[in-house]
Amino acid sequence: MQTRRVSFHTLGCKLNFSESSTLARTFEQGGFVRVAPSADADIFVINSCSVTEHADKKCRNLIRKLHRRNPQAIIAVTGCYAQLKPQEIADIEGVDIVLGNNFKGDLYRRVLELIERGRVQNVYSCDTDSITSFFAAFSSGDRTRAFLKVQDGCDYCCAYCTIHYARGSSRNLPIADLVREAEKIAAAGQKEIVITGVNTGDFGRTTGEKFIDLLRALNKVEGIERYRISSIEPNLLTDEIIEFCAASPKFQHHFHIPLQCGCDKILHQMRRRYTTAKFADRIHTVKRLMPDAFIGIDVIVGFPGETDEDFQTSYDFLERLEPAFLHVFPFSERPGTPAADFPDKVQDSVKTERVARLEELCHRLHASFCRKGVGTEQDVLFESTRREGMMFGYTGNYIRVKAPYERERVNTICRVKLGEMDDSQDLMGEIRD
Ligand code: SF4
Repeated sequence: MQTRRVSFHTLGCKLNFSESSTLARTFEQGGFVRVAPSADADIFVINSCSVTEHADKKCRNLIRKLHRRNPQAIIAVTGCYAQLKPQEIADIEGVDIVLGNNFKGDLYRRVLELIERGRVQNVYSCDTDSITSFFAAFSSGDRTRAFLKVQDGCDYCCAYCTIHYARGSSRNLPIADLVREAEKIAAAGQKEIVITGVNTGDFGRTTGEKFIDLLRALNKVEGIERYRISSIEPNLLTDEIIEFCAASPKFQHHFHIPLQCGCDKILHQMRRRYTTAKFADRIHTVKRLMPDAFIGIDVIVGFPGETDEDFQTSYDFLERLEPAFLHVFPFSERPGTPAADFPDKVQDSVKTERVARLEELCHRLHASFCRKGVGTEQDVLFESTRREGMMFGYTGNYIRVKAPYERERVNTICRVKLGEMDDSQDLMGEIRD
Protein backbone atom coordinates (compact mmCIF):
# COMPACT_ATOMS: atom_id res chain seq x y z
CA MET A 1 0.00 0.00 0.00
CA GLN A 2 1.29 3.52 -0.86
CA THR A 3 2.43 5.32 2.31
CA ARG A 4 -0.06 8.07 3.06
CA ARG A 5 0.71 11.27 4.93
CA VAL A 6 -1.80 12.57 7.48
CA SER A 7 -1.83 15.85 9.39
CA PHE A 8 -3.97 16.98 12.33
CA HIS A 9 -5.35 20.50 12.78
CA THR A 10 -6.81 21.00 16.23
CA LEU A 11 -8.91 24.01 17.21
CA GLY A 12 -10.20 24.76 20.71
CA CYS A 13 -9.69 23.12 24.08
CA LYS A 14 -7.39 20.64 25.81
CA LEU A 15 -10.03 17.95 25.27
CA ASN A 16 -9.72 18.38 21.51
CA PHE A 17 -5.92 18.13 21.77
CA SER A 18 -6.13 14.90 23.73
CA GLU A 19 -8.56 13.48 21.14
CA SER A 20 -6.52 14.55 18.09
CA SER A 21 -3.38 13.05 19.63
CA THR A 22 -5.24 9.77 20.23
CA LEU A 23 -6.58 9.71 16.65
CA ALA A 24 -3.06 10.40 15.36
CA ARG A 25 -1.68 7.38 17.23
CA THR A 26 -4.36 5.22 15.54
CA PHE A 27 -3.32 6.41 12.08
CA GLU A 28 0.38 5.87 12.87
CA GLN A 29 -0.34 2.35 14.12
CA GLY A 30 -2.15 1.81 10.79
CA GLY A 31 1.01 2.70 8.86
CA PHE A 32 0.19 6.32 8.03
CA VAL A 33 2.95 8.91 8.33
CA ARG A 34 2.05 11.86 10.51
CA VAL A 35 3.31 15.17 9.11
CA ALA A 36 3.33 18.68 10.56
CA PRO A 37 0.20 20.84 10.15
CA SER A 38 2.19 23.17 7.86
CA ALA A 39 3.22 20.35 5.50
CA ASP A 40 1.38 18.89 2.52
CA ALA A 41 -0.56 15.67 3.23
CA ASP A 42 -2.87 13.10 1.63
CA ILE A 43 -5.35 13.34 4.52
CA PHE A 44 -6.14 16.49 6.48
CA VAL A 45 -8.01 15.92 9.76
CA ILE A 46 -9.60 18.95 11.41
CA ASN A 47 -10.85 18.69 15.00
CA SER A 48 -13.12 21.71 15.18
CA CYS A 49 -14.41 23.99 17.96
CA SER A 50 -17.63 25.98 18.11
CA VAL A 51 -17.39 27.91 21.38
CA THR A 52 -17.69 31.22 19.48
CA GLU A 53 -18.74 32.41 15.99
CA HIS A 54 -15.06 33.18 15.43
CA ALA A 55 -14.14 29.50 16.04
CA ASP A 56 -16.58 28.40 13.31
CA LYS A 57 -15.10 30.95 10.88
CA LYS A 58 -11.55 29.79 11.68
CA CYS A 59 -12.54 26.24 10.75
CA ARG A 60 -14.13 27.29 7.43
CA ASN A 61 -11.02 29.29 6.49
CA LEU A 62 -8.78 26.37 7.42
CA ILE A 63 -10.75 23.97 5.20
CA ARG A 64 -10.42 26.33 2.23
CA LYS A 65 -6.68 26.83 2.88
CA LEU A 66 -5.99 23.09 3.08
CA HIS A 67 -8.08 22.37 -0.04
CA ARG A 68 -6.03 24.95 -1.95
CA ARG A 69 -2.82 23.39 -0.58
CA ASN A 70 -3.75 19.95 -1.99
CA PRO A 71 -7.06 19.60 -3.89
CA GLN A 72 -6.47 15.82 -4.12
CA ALA A 73 -6.24 15.37 -0.37
CA ILE A 74 -9.03 13.87 1.73
CA ILE A 75 -10.47 16.39 4.21
CA ALA A 76 -12.16 14.96 7.32
CA VAL A 77 -13.80 17.33 9.81
CA THR A 78 -14.92 16.34 13.30
CA GLY A 79 -15.45 18.12 16.61
CA CYS A 80 -18.06 20.51 18.02
CA TYR A 81 -18.66 22.58 14.86
CA ALA A 82 -19.12 19.33 12.89
CA GLN A 83 -21.61 18.18 15.53
CA LEU A 84 -23.63 21.41 15.55
CA LYS A 85 -23.60 22.31 11.81
CA PRO A 86 -22.61 19.22 9.77
CA GLN A 87 -24.30 20.33 6.53
CA GLU A 88 -22.73 23.81 6.66
CA ILE A 89 -19.31 22.10 6.68
CA ALA A 90 -20.29 19.48 4.10
CA ASP A 91 -21.24 22.29 1.70
CA ILE A 92 -17.67 23.62 1.64
CA GLU A 93 -15.71 22.50 -1.42
CA GLY A 94 -13.17 19.76 -0.71
CA VAL A 95 -14.82 18.24 2.38
CA ASP A 96 -15.05 14.43 2.15
CA ILE A 97 -16.07 13.35 5.65
CA VAL A 98 -17.97 15.13 8.45
CA LEU A 99 -18.22 13.30 11.78
CA GLY A 100 -20.23 14.47 14.77
CA ASN A 101 -18.81 13.95 18.25
CA ASN A 102 -20.53 10.60 18.70
CA PHE A 103 -18.49 9.24 15.77
CA LYS A 104 -15.16 10.97 16.42
CA GLY A 105 -13.48 7.78 17.64
CA ASP A 106 -14.50 6.12 14.34
CA LEU A 107 -12.56 8.54 12.17
CA TYR A 108 -9.72 6.20 11.20
CA ARG A 109 -12.13 3.47 10.02
CA ARG A 110 -14.23 5.97 8.06
CA VAL A 111 -11.14 7.28 6.24
CA LEU A 112 -10.03 3.74 5.34
CA GLU A 113 -13.54 3.01 4.02
CA LEU A 114 -13.40 6.13 1.87
CA ILE A 115 -9.97 5.20 0.48
CA GLU A 116 -11.15 1.66 -0.34
CA ARG A 117 -14.56 2.57 -1.73
CA GLY A 118 -13.69 5.79 -3.53
CA ARG A 119 -14.39 9.40 -2.78
CA VAL A 120 -18.08 9.77 -2.01
CA GLN A 121 -18.82 12.47 0.56
CA ASN A 122 -20.01 11.07 3.91
CA VAL A 123 -21.69 12.92 6.78
CA TYR A 124 -22.00 11.02 10.06
CA SER A 125 -23.94 12.93 12.65
CA CYS A 126 -26.72 12.61 15.20
CA ASP A 127 -28.69 14.82 17.53
CA THR A 128 -27.40 15.83 20.94
CA ASP A 129 -29.46 13.33 22.91
CA SER A 130 -27.91 10.49 20.99
CA ILE A 131 -24.34 11.45 21.86
CA THR A 132 -23.59 8.62 24.26
CA SER A 133 -20.20 7.21 23.23
CA PHE A 134 -17.13 8.04 25.31
CA PHE A 135 -14.01 8.41 23.16
CA ALA A 136 -11.14 7.66 25.55
CA ALA A 137 -8.22 9.98 24.90
CA PHE A 138 -4.93 11.38 26.13
CA SER A 139 -2.26 13.46 24.45
CA SER A 140 1.21 12.04 24.00
CA GLY A 141 4.58 12.82 22.47
CA ASP A 142 4.03 16.37 21.38
CA ARG A 143 4.08 18.06 24.79
CA THR A 144 5.81 17.69 28.13
CA ARG A 145 2.54 17.43 29.93
CA ALA A 146 -0.20 15.05 28.85
CA PHE A 147 -3.90 15.98 28.72
CA LEU A 148 -5.90 13.07 30.10
CA LYS A 149 -9.62 13.13 29.20
CA VAL A 150 -11.57 11.89 32.22
CA GLN A 151 -15.05 13.26 31.49
CA ASP A 152 -17.10 14.45 28.49
CA GLY A 153 -20.37 16.37 27.98
CA CYS A 154 -22.31 18.57 30.39
CA ASP A 155 -25.76 18.56 32.00
CA TYR A 156 -25.61 22.21 33.01
CA CYS A 157 -27.46 24.65 30.73
CA CYS A 158 -25.66 27.95 31.13
CA ALA A 159 -27.56 30.49 29.07
CA TYR A 160 -24.68 31.39 26.71
CA CYS A 161 -23.19 27.95 26.09
CA THR A 162 -23.41 25.56 23.14
CA ILE A 163 -21.01 22.96 24.52
CA HIS A 164 -23.83 20.97 26.07
CA TYR A 165 -25.45 20.69 22.62
CA ALA A 166 -22.17 19.81 20.93
CA ARG A 167 -20.87 17.26 23.39
CA GLY A 168 -24.04 15.76 24.89
CA SER A 169 -24.70 14.80 28.49
CA SER A 170 -22.10 14.31 31.20
CA ARG A 171 -20.36 10.91 31.08
CA ASN A 172 -17.02 9.35 31.98
CA LEU A 173 -14.84 6.28 31.95
CA PRO A 174 -14.53 4.18 35.14
CA ILE A 175 -11.67 5.11 37.50
CA ALA A 176 -9.93 1.75 36.82
CA ASP A 177 -9.76 2.49 33.07
CA LEU A 178 -8.42 6.00 33.70
CA VAL A 179 -5.69 4.66 35.97
CA ARG A 180 -4.63 2.40 33.10
CA GLU A 181 -4.57 5.42 30.76
CA ALA A 182 -2.35 7.28 33.26
CA GLU A 183 -0.02 4.26 33.46
CA LYS A 184 0.34 4.35 29.65
CA ILE A 185 1.28 8.05 29.89
CA ALA A 186 3.86 7.26 32.58
CA ALA A 187 5.25 4.42 30.45
CA ALA A 188 5.69 6.91 27.58
CA GLY A 189 7.90 9.02 29.87
CA GLN A 190 5.67 12.04 30.49
CA LYS A 191 5.86 13.33 34.06
CA GLU A 192 2.84 15.62 34.26
CA ILE A 193 -0.85 15.02 33.60
CA VAL A 194 -3.52 17.70 33.13
CA ILE A 195 -6.87 16.17 34.07
CA THR A 196 -9.36 17.46 31.52
CA GLY A 197 -13.01 17.28 30.54
CA VAL A 198 -15.96 19.51 29.66
CA ASN A 199 -17.31 19.74 33.24
CA THR A 200 -14.44 17.88 34.87
CA GLY A 201 -15.69 18.14 38.45
CA ASP A 202 -18.97 16.50 37.37
CA PHE A 203 -17.03 13.25 36.94
CA GLY A 204 -18.93 10.10 37.94
CA ARG A 205 -22.37 10.68 36.36
CA THR A 206 -22.32 7.42 34.38
CA THR A 207 -20.33 5.26 36.81
CA GLY A 208 -21.58 6.48 40.19
CA GLU A 209 -17.99 7.21 41.24
CA LYS A 210 -16.67 10.44 42.84
CA PHE A 211 -14.16 12.94 41.43
CA ILE A 212 -12.19 12.89 44.72
CA ASP A 213 -11.79 9.11 44.41
CA LEU A 214 -10.45 9.54 40.89
CA LEU A 215 -7.85 12.02 42.20
CA ARG A 216 -6.85 9.62 44.99
CA ALA A 217 -6.45 6.73 42.51
CA LEU A 218 -4.39 8.77 40.02
CA ASN A 219 -2.22 10.03 42.89
CA LYS A 220 -0.91 6.46 43.30
CA VAL A 221 0.20 5.98 39.68
CA GLU A 222 3.98 5.38 39.54
CA GLY A 223 5.98 7.63 37.23
CA ILE A 224 3.58 10.59 37.15
CA GLU A 225 5.07 13.28 39.38
CA ARG A 226 2.60 16.12 38.82
CA TYR A 227 -1.11 16.60 38.25
CA ARG A 228 -3.09 19.72 37.37
CA ILE A 229 -6.88 19.96 37.23
CA SER A 230 -7.60 21.78 33.95
CA SER A 231 -10.77 23.52 35.09
CA ILE A 232 -13.42 22.94 37.76
CA GLU A 233 -16.79 24.59 38.37
CA PRO A 234 -16.81 26.54 41.67
CA ASN A 235 -19.86 24.68 42.98
CA LEU A 236 -17.99 21.38 42.43
CA LEU A 237 -14.75 22.48 44.13
CA THR A 238 -15.40 20.91 47.54
CA ASP A 239 -13.39 21.35 50.74
CA GLU A 240 -12.41 17.67 50.38
CA ILE A 241 -10.84 18.31 46.94
CA ILE A 242 -9.04 21.44 48.16
CA GLU A 243 -7.69 19.67 51.28
CA PHE A 244 -6.59 16.70 49.16
CA CYS A 245 -4.68 18.94 46.71
CA ALA A 246 -3.10 20.85 49.61
CA ALA A 247 -1.83 17.60 51.18
CA SER A 248 -0.79 15.76 47.99
CA PRO A 249 2.84 16.22 46.81
CA LYS A 250 1.69 15.46 43.27
CA PHE A 251 -1.38 17.71 42.84
CA GLN A 252 -0.04 21.16 42.02
CA HIS A 253 -1.22 24.38 43.66
CA HIS A 254 -2.90 25.51 40.46
CA PHE A 255 -6.63 26.04 39.97
CA HIS A 256 -8.62 27.23 36.95
CA ILE A 257 -12.11 28.20 38.06
CA PRO A 258 -14.75 29.73 35.72
CA LEU A 259 -16.50 32.71 37.34
CA GLN A 260 -17.87 34.31 34.15
CA CYS A 261 -19.05 37.44 35.96
CA GLY A 262 -18.44 39.08 39.36
CA CYS A 263 -21.97 40.51 39.54
CA ASP A 264 -24.79 38.38 41.01
CA LYS A 265 -27.50 39.90 38.80
CA ILE A 266 -25.64 38.78 35.65
CA LEU A 267 -24.58 35.42 37.15
CA HIS A 268 -28.28 34.70 37.70
CA GLN A 269 -29.12 35.60 34.07
CA MET A 270 -26.27 33.39 32.88
CA ARG A 271 -27.91 30.54 34.84
CA ARG A 272 -24.67 29.83 36.69
CA ARG A 273 -24.97 27.72 39.85
CA TYR A 274 -23.33 29.93 42.52
CA THR A 275 -23.20 33.47 43.82
CA THR A 276 -20.17 35.76 44.09
CA ALA A 277 -20.17 35.07 47.86
CA LYS A 278 -19.94 31.31 47.25
CA PHE A 279 -17.22 31.87 44.66
CA ALA A 280 -15.21 34.09 47.00
CA ASP A 281 -15.54 31.47 49.73
CA ARG A 282 -13.94 28.85 47.42
CA ILE A 283 -11.06 31.19 46.57
CA HIS A 284 -10.45 32.05 50.22
CA THR A 285 -10.45 28.37 51.16
CA VAL A 286 -7.86 27.58 48.47
CA LYS A 287 -5.69 30.52 49.54
CA ARG A 288 -5.95 29.58 53.23
CA LEU A 289 -4.71 26.02 52.60
CA MET A 290 -2.35 26.88 49.69
CA PRO A 291 -1.24 30.54 50.03
CA ASP A 292 1.07 30.17 46.98
CA ALA A 293 -1.70 28.76 44.72
CA PHE A 294 -2.04 30.02 41.15
CA ILE A 295 -5.74 30.77 40.57
CA GLY A 296 -6.86 31.47 37.02
CA ILE A 297 -10.40 32.74 36.50
CA ASP A 298 -12.60 32.79 33.36
CA VAL A 299 -14.65 35.95 32.80
CA ILE A 300 -17.14 36.83 30.07
CA VAL A 301 -17.73 40.55 29.41
CA GLY A 302 -20.66 42.14 27.64
CA PHE A 303 -23.33 39.56 28.49
CA PRO A 304 -26.77 40.95 27.48
CA GLY A 305 -28.00 43.34 30.17
CA GLU A 306 -24.51 44.02 31.63
CA THR A 307 -24.53 47.75 32.49
CA ASP A 308 -21.46 49.89 33.25
CA GLU A 309 -22.32 49.52 36.95
CA ASP A 310 -22.56 45.71 36.66
CA PHE A 311 -19.20 45.61 34.91
CA GLN A 312 -17.63 47.85 37.58
CA THR A 313 -19.05 45.56 40.29
CA SER A 314 -17.47 42.59 38.51
CA TYR A 315 -14.15 44.42 38.07
CA ASP A 316 -13.98 45.41 41.74
CA PHE A 317 -14.89 41.86 42.83
CA LEU A 318 -12.02 40.43 40.77
CA GLU A 319 -9.54 43.05 41.99
CA ARG A 320 -10.42 42.20 45.61
CA LEU A 321 -10.04 38.43 45.00
CA GLU A 322 -6.49 38.92 43.63
CA PRO A 323 -6.29 35.84 41.42
CA ALA A 324 -3.07 35.20 39.48
CA PHE A 325 -4.65 35.36 36.04
CA LEU A 326 -7.85 36.27 34.19
CA HIS A 327 -8.99 34.51 30.99
CA VAL A 328 -11.17 37.22 29.45
CA PHE A 329 -13.73 36.55 26.71
CA PRO A 330 -16.13 38.97 24.99
CA PHE A 331 -19.68 37.54 25.01
CA SER A 332 -20.28 35.69 21.73
CA GLU A 333 -23.92 35.13 20.82
CA ARG A 334 -24.47 31.46 19.96
CA PRO A 335 -27.54 30.41 17.93
CA GLY A 336 -29.87 28.09 19.82
CA THR A 337 -28.81 29.28 23.28
CA PRO A 338 -31.27 31.14 25.57
CA ALA A 339 -28.93 34.18 25.73
CA ALA A 340 -29.21 34.64 21.95
CA ASP A 341 -32.74 35.96 22.55
CA PHE A 342 -31.98 38.07 25.62
CA PRO A 343 -32.64 41.85 25.28
CA ASP A 344 -30.21 44.70 26.03
CA LYS A 345 -27.34 43.49 23.84
CA VAL A 346 -24.01 45.18 24.59
CA GLN A 347 -22.27 46.97 21.71
CA ASP A 348 -19.02 45.45 20.39
CA SER A 349 -17.11 48.68 21.08
CA VAL A 350 -18.17 48.50 24.74
CA LYS A 351 -17.17 44.82 24.93
CA THR A 352 -13.76 45.68 23.48
CA GLU A 353 -13.26 48.42 26.06
CA ARG A 354 -14.26 46.13 28.95
CA VAL A 355 -11.98 43.34 27.68
CA ALA A 356 -9.09 45.84 27.58
CA ARG A 357 -9.74 46.97 31.16
CA LEU A 358 -9.78 43.38 32.47
CA GLU A 359 -6.68 42.45 30.48
CA GLU A 360 -4.88 45.42 32.02
CA LEU A 361 -6.00 44.22 35.47
CA CYS A 362 -4.83 40.70 34.59
CA HIS A 363 -1.38 42.04 33.65
CA ARG A 364 -1.04 43.74 37.04
CA LEU A 365 -2.34 40.75 39.02
CA HIS A 366 -0.08 38.28 37.19
CA ALA A 367 3.00 40.49 37.68
CA SER A 368 2.33 40.80 41.39
CA PHE A 369 1.75 37.02 41.67
CA CYS A 370 5.00 36.14 39.85
CA ARG A 371 7.02 38.67 41.84
CA LYS A 372 6.20 36.70 45.00
CA GLY A 373 8.29 33.88 43.53
CA VAL A 374 11.47 35.97 43.16
CA GLY A 375 14.22 34.67 45.46
CA THR A 376 12.46 31.39 46.25
CA GLU A 377 13.64 27.88 45.29
CA GLN A 378 11.10 25.78 43.41
CA ASP A 379 10.75 22.60 41.35
CA VAL A 380 10.46 23.38 37.64
CA LEU A 381 9.50 20.91 34.86
CA PHE A 382 11.41 22.07 31.77
CA GLU A 383 9.75 21.72 28.37
CA SER A 384 11.26 21.13 24.93
CA THR A 385 10.66 24.67 23.67
CA ARG A 386 14.00 26.37 22.81
CA ARG A 387 14.04 30.10 22.06
CA GLU A 388 17.08 32.40 21.89
CA GLY A 389 19.21 29.76 23.61
CA MET A 390 16.77 29.48 26.52
CA MET A 391 14.48 26.71 27.69
CA PHE A 392 11.22 27.22 29.58
CA GLY A 393 9.29 25.41 32.26
CA TYR A 394 6.71 25.90 34.98
CA THR A 395 6.85 25.78 38.75
CA GLY A 396 4.16 23.82 40.58
CA ASN A 397 2.20 27.03 41.02
CA TYR A 398 2.46 27.80 37.31
CA ILE A 399 5.11 30.53 37.24
CA ARG A 400 6.96 30.39 33.93
CA VAL A 401 10.73 30.13 34.35
CA LYS A 402 13.50 30.36 31.76
CA ALA A 403 17.09 29.10 31.94
CA PRO A 404 19.96 28.51 29.48
CA TYR A 405 19.04 25.55 27.24
CA GLU A 406 20.41 22.14 28.30
CA ARG A 407 19.08 19.24 26.20
CA GLU A 408 19.44 16.68 29.00
CA ARG A 409 17.20 18.80 31.28
CA VAL A 410 14.18 18.71 28.94
CA ASN A 411 11.21 16.85 30.49
CA THR A 412 12.98 16.72 33.87
CA ILE A 413 12.01 18.37 37.16
CA CYS A 414 14.90 20.50 38.50
CA ARG A 415 15.38 22.48 41.67
CA VAL A 416 15.68 26.13 40.59
CA LYS A 417 16.44 29.44 42.32
CA LEU A 418 14.04 32.03 40.89
CA GLY A 419 15.58 35.35 39.92
CA GLU A 420 14.27 38.57 38.42
CA MET A 421 11.12 38.88 36.27
CA ASP A 422 11.41 40.10 32.66
CA ASP A 423 8.93 42.07 30.53
CA SER A 424 7.12 38.86 29.53
CA GLN A 425 6.65 38.16 33.24
CA ASP A 426 8.97 35.11 33.01
CA LEU A 427 11.39 34.60 35.90
CA MET A 428 15.06 33.89 35.30
CA GLY A 429 16.02 30.54 36.78
CA GLU A 430 19.33 29.28 38.18
CA ILE A 431 19.35 25.47 38.26
CA ARG A 432 20.53 24.15 41.61
CA ASP A 433 20.83 20.37 41.01
S1 SF4 B 1 -20.84 24.28 32.80
FE1 SF4 B 1 -22.01 25.74 31.58
S2 SF4 B 1 -20.42 26.81 30.42
FE2 SF4 B 1 -19.51 24.93 31.14
S3 SF4 B 1 -19.79 23.44 29.49
FE3 SF4 B 1 -21.49 23.24 30.92
S4 SF4 B 1 -23.13 24.50 30.09
FE4 SF4 B 1 -21.19 25.14 29.13
